[in-house]
Amino acid sequence: MKIIFLGAPGAGKGTQAEIVSKSLNIPTISTGDMIREALKTGTEMGKKAKAYMEAGDLVPDQVVIGIVKERLALDDCKNGYILDGFPRTIPQAEALDAMGADIDCVIDIEVKDEVIINRMSGRRVCEKCGKTYHTENNPSKIEGVCDACTGALIQRKDDHIDTVKKRLETYHKETEPLKGYYEAQGKLIEVEGKDGKGSIEATHALIMEALNNR
Ligand code: AMP
Repeated sequence: MKIIFLGAPGAGKGTQAEIVSKSLNIPTISTGDMIREALKTGTEMGKKAKAYMEAGDLVPDQVVIGIVKERLALDDCKNGYILDGFPRTIPQAEALDAMGADIDCVIDIEVKDEVIINRMSGRRVCEKCGKTYHTENNPSKIEGVCDACTGALIQRKDDHIDTVKKRLETYHKETEPLKGYYEAQGKLIEVEGKDGKGSIEATHALIMEALNNR
């Protein structure tokens, strides 16, 4: 099965994509993770993407389309995959169609902007092992220290409140029109995301139910 996870940044699509990916035994392809990795290892693409990412802007379509095309050609994508964070613009969706991807369905996780702002600006990440926390909903035992590896907890630059607001603005302008694009193809499934402290399991159950009822 080939599934796209759509939704605002911070709507929980990454977490949901990982869980579905395990239950269906297909890889998750996250363009955000791929770009962060390129940034860490200092590749040319990473250097190009850095400024856009930190400002809360989208990386240019041609750059992202290129990395997705290469990734989808790998062997582990033969039996399907989940796309998390791609496409994010109409030209990206058109490029995916032009690659002959033949997507089965698009799951859109809906969460209110104010919930997202609270969730993302409170998010902390361990700079050593990558484990994520939230200052209110999921704090570490000792403030600023990772429970798992004692690494320092930091705030991603793109999780700063002004950047989050910018990312939401970009989402509404560039990405939300994709709902109409996929609705017209009869592929859109809308799911209510967890509101504040609601459970990840409840959203997952809604997604699996929607997938099974297709
Ligand atoms: P994410 O972790 O998915 O929210 O992605 C983090 C950042 O990476 C975004 O704010 C963008 O700057 C960039 N990015 C990730 N995926 C895309 C995409 N499909 N198109 C353009 N930029 C992207």
